[in-house]
Amino acid sequence: MLLRHTPKEIKERSALTVNPAKTCQPIGAMYAALGIHGCLPHSHGSQGCCSYHRSTLTRHYKEPVMAATSSFTEGSSVFGGQANLLTAINNIFTIYEPDVIAIHSTCLSETIGDDLKQISEKAKEEGKVPLGKHVIYCNTPSYVGSHVTGYANMLKGIVDYFPESTGKKVDCLNLISGWVEPADMREVKRMAKMMGANTIIFPDTSDVLDAPQTGRYTMYPKGGTSISELIASGNSKASLGFGEWATKDAAIKLENKCKVPFEITDLPIGLCATDRFVQALSKLAEVTIPESITTERGRLVDVITDYQQYLYGKRVALWGDPDQLIPLVEFLLDLDMKPVYIVSGTPGKKMAAKLEKLLSEKVPEARYKNGELADMFLMHQWIKNEPVDLLIGNSYGKYISRDENIPFLRMGFPIMDRVGHSYFPTVGYMGGIRILEKILGLLMDKQDADSPETSFELVM
Ligand code: SF4
Repeated sequence: MLLRHTPKEIKERSALTVNPAKTCQPIGAMYAALGIHGCLPHSHGSQGCCSYHRSTLTRHYKEPVMAATSSFTEGSSVFGGQANLLTAINNIFTIYEPDVIAIHSTCLSETIGDDLKQISEKAKEEGKVPLGKHVIYCNTPSYVGSHVTGYANMLKGIVDYFPESTGKKVDCLNLISGWVEPADMREVKRMAKMMGANTIIFPDTSDVLDAPQTGRYTMYPKGGTSISELIASGNSKASLGFGEWATKDAAIKLENKCKVPFEITDLPIGLCATDRFVQALSKLAEVTIPESITTERGRLVDVITDYQQYLYGKRVALWGDPDQLIPLVEFLLDLDMKPVYIVSGTPGKKMAAKLEKLLSEKVPEARYKNGELADMFLMHQWIKNEPVDLLIGNSYGKYISRDENIPFLRMGFPIMDRVGHSYFPTVGYMGGIRILEKILGLLMDKQDADSPETSFELVM
């Protein structure tokens, strides 16, 4: 198919990236902003950037994603985009009436050096921000980092603006959510409720990007973290960030600003990462782990035990974001599978160090790479040299799957050619069962398809 000319021979590259395993910073900023109730994201740049970001989110979440743009022309590209942004803020509050405008920059506005802080303050001074309305902002130059960096930067922008401290802590735990699906955020809230923890979760895209069809269009669906909750998060007794890449900087900022101590844990994907998440939640919220949570854990352990023989030794290739990949690799190891190839376009040395720790003993032959040259082209070359039994990653893996006839589990962002990812959680113990069910279904389908008639089994 499209990748049939990928050569098997791997040559050292110094600059060229082919099919990167990441996307653009502002997409992450836009997604995080949508987790605030009544918020309209605003892209400070050209219309093309905004259209691309909106369409990527719309294709993944199958929901209309609204966002405004500064609509740069040649003039704004040369003389700066201040005039466009001031007009946009005025128009947006007048016409679309959001409670919050969340501005992120783009490559172009960063390159010309527009100062979002100064422009937002000017908008306030000029009376373009109505009383009780808010303008927040973050910098998202897409020539560094990835969509994960953009998400993390918008979380910092949220923390910079909203939380306030009265000096008196209350019995509430902030759950700072990494980049997960709306259904995952809902699942985390369900688990926290089962444990009797009083929490504020932000951002929260449940009931925003998986809103029900009611027959009436609502520009601002009922979901999202409310402004009063965001302000109150400054008085919480602690924060638990799940997903280090996405949440750590915001958690540090909140501690420095409002003296809210924090802990960071992995996204609760799979058995051990969910155990750590539940224990951290129990400790920080000062609640006990109820029987109902232990029962869910037991169900996941039971499925693992029942089907381990189908999983043992299976070679897996994965790509995506560090926050998802690290607990997923750990889960695959718990299933006695072999995560042999891992790539992520998100840069930074931390990821390789974490994977080294997880894989060096159990899968010494594993190859992993992150950053600019860690792309789908390299992944395809590795697979051509020594195949795998399963692919796990976003939709961009479908070409490798088709070319090499390898079962493919879609996980991560973006998924543009299947449904269900935003409705069914993959976090928590129940999410672990869903991941397992999907993996087993794919491996068993392949076994059925490849079996000679003499060993084609009804009972598996
Ligand atoms: S990479 Fe830069 S120019 Fe391209 S869509 Fe993203 S923000 Fe716009």
